Amino acid sequence: MTGLLERASLTAERRTRELAELAGGEVVDLLVVGGGVTGVGVALDAASRGLSVALVEAGDLAFGTSRWSSKLVHGGLRYLASGDLRLARESAAEREILMRRTAPHLVHPLPIVLPLTPDVPATSALVTRAGLGFGDLLRRGVRTPSTVLPPPRRLSAVETLGMVPGLREAGLRGGLLYWDGQLVDDARLVVTIARTAAAFGARVLTRVRVLAVRDDAGTGPDTDTGTGTRTGTGAGVRSGGGLGPAPIAVQALDTLTGRHCRLRARAVVNATGVWAPGLAPEIRLRPSRGTHLVLPAAVFGGTPTALSVPIPGERNRYALVLPQGDGRVYVGLTDVPTDEVTEQPVPDHQEITQLLNVVSGVLATPVDRADLLGVFAGLRPLLDGPDGRTADLSRRHTVHVGPNRVITVVGGKLTTYRRMAEDAVDAAVAQASLDAGPCRTGRLPLVGAASRRTLASVPAPRRLVARYGTQAPAVLELARHDPRLLEPVTTGVDVTRAELVFAVLHEGALDEGDLLDRRTRIGLVPADRAAALDAARDALSYRAAHTS
Ligand SMILES: Cc1cc2nc3c(=O)[nH]c(=O)nc-3n(C[C@H](O)[C@H](O)[C@H](O)COP(=O)(O)OP(=O)(O)OC[C@H]3O[C@@H](n4cnc5c(N)ncnc54)[C@H](O)[C@@H]3O)c2cc1C
Repeated sequence: MTGLLERASLTAERRTRELAELAGGEVVDLLVVGGGVTGVGVALDAASRGLSVALVEAGDLAFGTSRWSSKLVHGGLRYLASGDLRLARESAAEREILMRRTAPHLVHPLPIVLPLTPDVPATSALVTRAGLGFGDLLRRGVRTPSTVLPPPRRLSAVETLGMVPGLREAGLRGGLLYWDGQLVDDARLVVTIARTAAAFGARVLTRVRVLAVRDDAGTGPDTDTGTGTRTGTGAGVRSGGGLGPAPIAVQALDTLTGRHCRLRARAVVNATGVWAPGLAPEIRLRPSRGTHLVLPAAVFGGTPTALSVPIPGERNRYALVLPQGDGRVYVGLTDVPTDEVTEQPVPDHQEITQLLNVVSGVLATPVDRADLLGVFAGLRPLLDGPDGRTADLSRRHTVHVGPNRVITVVGGKLTTYRRMAEDAVDAAVAQASLDAGPCRTGRLPLVGAASRRTLASVPAPRRLVARYGTQAPAVLELARHDPRLLEPVTTGVDVTRAELVFAVLHEGALDEGDLLDRRTRIGLVPADRAAALDAARDALSYRAAHTS
């Protein structure tokens, strides 16, 4: 295990060394721009096919949308409702892969109850039940056993209240219970994929911003590179065809040192999400903001069951109450078209009020602003389509080969990142005639993954196993000579100091923000973040203190 731990380790020293190698003129097969789930997925796919890979990320891993999601691994129910069977099946298949092969440590089954309140007419309950039945057929079709995701069923009112004690009893006819996958944390998935890619030799370089791409083949924007745009699932991407092997040059800035550098690669994949048009102006996106509230779990009776509450007046739109297992729940989510693409989107007053009102409508004791511990919002990188509302725009992905040979992969979902990566790497291999093996990620366990049975016997607290899998003992090991590291970083927060130190030693955390906002999610509650700042600083100085 130590071998893998070391090979997968991302550190400040490794970053400096590897960036110097690239800036020194080395040409890699594939340069990936963007360290969200899509970019790290591409890096892993390519590195595990035997290609030389570098990934550059302007901020930190999971700096963009990938840390603001609902943290669900969807089976595609939503797409069934909109009639997109192919996308629904793809989601169910990717959920199966994540839950049973590649990341069983990070994704667990989540029970979800849709309460049948007076606001849910009997006919819509019937339609929803039929939809859940179809979703279950998909589950069976992709061979996810009912021991992992049980089939949906109708609950009596008593059973519903037993599962979600905070619900209002008056008028409750019962509930619909169904199951889906829930990530322990989205940013943790990103970091785990990045570390797995690093174990295959990928260079994962944060704080490196791409400023421009220049096509050294001299094909220029007028050259027909076969701008094959492909959406969603299915076979075959048109290659750029007929291009010479000259590398593509990328101008980049090391934002830690302020130094500019020139990186060279045979193929470049643009995985910059809502920022994709920056490197591929021909791509048109319609970003949409989705907001979540952070509330104490106690206001929902401390239940581990999620709630799905139909939004009054909307078709197929639900507010979700998502327990996080650390005394918090997230309540989401809105869908607000926006032209403002920022690193940290800010929810507006109306979104917060709407979410509070929808969930209050089903609770015995309504929630209000005084209950809020925090809020967060992210931007969906939705592809522009014929004038639908953003809520209706397809969640499919596209692989697009631009006139400058840059391959853009955008759209999709966290759940389908692996499929997006496979399609993007297929396109890069075809375009640059790279010598690569077939995609293997469908069967490639991420760092820390093991069967549920093996995970159950890992000698470490369950909380750590859910985050680090088989590597949880390595986190504990840090505290062998310093038991203080097993203390929580601050009162009311479960994260231990050892986790922060592990993030510095193995997960590429370079500053307090990396530790508090991405390796852990302490920062989602501003008061906790402030209280944990000193612990983060201690963790950052740990390396210096223990290597001198
Ligand atoms: C509110 C919300 C809830 C969601 N919930 C779910 C869910 O529950 N389940 C699910 O499956 N999906 C969900 N999604 C969708 C999912 O989160 C996104 O599809 C996914 O995270 C997009 O990842 P990405 O890597 O493409 O983009 P990003 O995560 O945004 O990554 C792009 C990266 O590129 C970097 N970058 C940008 N420009 C440059 C540059 N010039 N040089 C270097 N780096 C650059 C950015 O810093 C960023 O880190 C949700 C989305 C939202 C907004």
